[in-house]
Amino acid sequence: MGEPIREVTIVGGGTAGWMTALLLQSMLKGGPEGGVRITLIESPNIPTVGVGEATVPGMPRTLKQGGIDERTFFKTCNASFKLGVVFGHWNVDAEGKRVDYINPFAHPPAIDGVSAAEYALQFGTGGLDFVQCFSPAVDLAAQAKGPRGRGEMPGPPVGFAYHLDAGKFAGLLKEHCVARGVRHVLDDLVEVELDERGYVAALMLERGGRHGVELVIDCTGFRGLIINQALGEPFESYGKYLANDRAMAVQVPHRDPVRLDSVTKSTALGAGWAWRVPLFNRIGTGYVFSSAHRTDEEARAEFLAHLGPDGEGAEPRVIPMRVGRNRNAWVKNCVAVGLSGGFIEPLESTAIHMIDTAVRWLVQYFPDRDFADPLRRRFNHLVDELYNEVRDFICLHYALGNRTDDQYWIDARESLEVPDTLAENLELWQYGLPAVNDIRFVSLFSPATYQAVLLGKQVYESGFGKGKFCSGRTLDGAKWAAYLKRARAGIGAQVQAAAGHRELLRAL
Ligand code: FAD
Repeated sequence: MGEPIREVTIVGGGTAGWMTALLLQSMLKGGPEGGVRITLIESPNIPTVGVGEATVPGMPRTLKQGGIDERTFFKTCNASFKLGVVFGHWNVDAEGKRVDYINPFAHPPAIDGVSAAEYALQFGTGGLDFVQCFSPAVDLAAQAKGPRGRGEMPGPPVGFAYHLDAGKFAGLLKEHCVARGVRHVLDDLVEVELDERGYVAALMLERGGRHGVELVIDCTGFRGLIINQALGEPFESYGKYLANDRAMAVQVPHRDPVRLDSVTKSTALGAGWAWRVPLFNRIGTGYVFSSAHRTDEEARAEFLAHLGPDGEGAEPRVIPMRVGRNRNAWVKNCVAVGLSGGFIEPLESTAIHMIDTAVRWLVQYFPDRDFADPLRRRFNHLVDELYNEVRDFICLHYALGNRTDDQYWIDARESLEVPDTLAENLELWQYGLPAVNDIRFVSLFSPATYQAVLLGKQVYESGFGKGKFCSGRTLDGAKWAAYLKRARAGIGAQVQAAAGHRELLRAL
């Protein structure tokens, strides 16, 4: 056994830096001398990326674990509830009409051990969206309701995540962590000193001078100042899989003083897609696009046209995106977390989840000052799986798109590579729905989530796997009809009892 690590140094004060501090502080072992000390160094000059406002359902657990009260979080971060992502116009149906669907935080149930998705394909849904057959998310979203009951009424059984103001969230985490003992240093990293083994020995700070390092977490954003620039770890671009490499973002006011949507919206435009994240006090919106298909000026014009009156006077800020990941996330005594480690376009709001997950794995495989290889290898293997999982799920949306109205959509489907793992499954799923053993590693996107996308996009109705679908099972149509009747009655009552989203946030 080597000497225990006494100090972790985090460089970067964005969401990644402060979430890492929060989780390490709450999860690392204390000890007679107060356990591991955490220092966070943040540049007073370089701004954070300033976006990243939609999350996935793990966030309530993280706040609780970090000791942050939900009410404080809602108030400070102008947060709101998110019941899923509505995908607008990503596909067209057999008649060429736009298809909109929701990807909820819910899974179709099994009826006699068979997924409801298979019944829905065989017997239809009686005009409902597939998700309406098992989750109240669609009906709640349509009525701008939230995931909790009115007054003392119980809330609907629906998964939820949060929308949050990224700047205010980092501020809240900072205040909370500093009050609990994280040392906060406002300074610029100007040089990295390596020892004879190539490990990071010290960080040279512009004002503070030399800061000795045991374990350093690189949270410096797209720059990857330590992992890429000082340690030379190669960055592997996902450009061959995903076309989008730029974004533009802007904040716009709510126009409707009453309605407050409880979903993130992702609307497909000419060369990418626009997000819409409704916070309590404003809307965060932006356009993720491909620079091979639109100049910034063309994208800006298209985005503003999409916003309509909401975008009057808006001046979107352009954000170049480094899409891909480092070959390894943990190199020597440096672990890259957040944008310095990698980034996949934010279609499913996965980056904060990936930060959270990576830090939990770091705690699980926490090293001493010998930095044993098996710990690093296992951590890197898991991060690799996590990136593959998210990459495949994002690529699915483009591979199964069927729009032909812009070259971008044709290229996204036909010219880009589909990762081998996904390509194999896409061949398989022409014959049957995604099933449990089809996906090797799941942190977020289970086969049931894939089913919801395939049915949401109506791919089987519009040609995918035409004539090949070959489930050998006999299903009982009467059972499906009875299930649907029961499920819809339950959902109706749940939606009725749910509070309006704005009302819920006011009460919080
Ligand atoms: P940054 O926010 O860039 O922070 C970098 C930090 O490093 C800053 O504090 C900076 O001061 C510091 N730094 C840099 N250089 C130095 C230096 N020399 N010395 C000291 N400090 C230094 N994620 C989601 O989960 N959901 C979303 O909906 C989502 N949407 C996104 C939309 C877009 C367009 C983009 C680009 C990203 C989105 N993300 C989303 C990702 C999310 O924004 C990031 O994962 C998250 O903000 C973490 O960023 P970061 O902390 O790694 O980097």
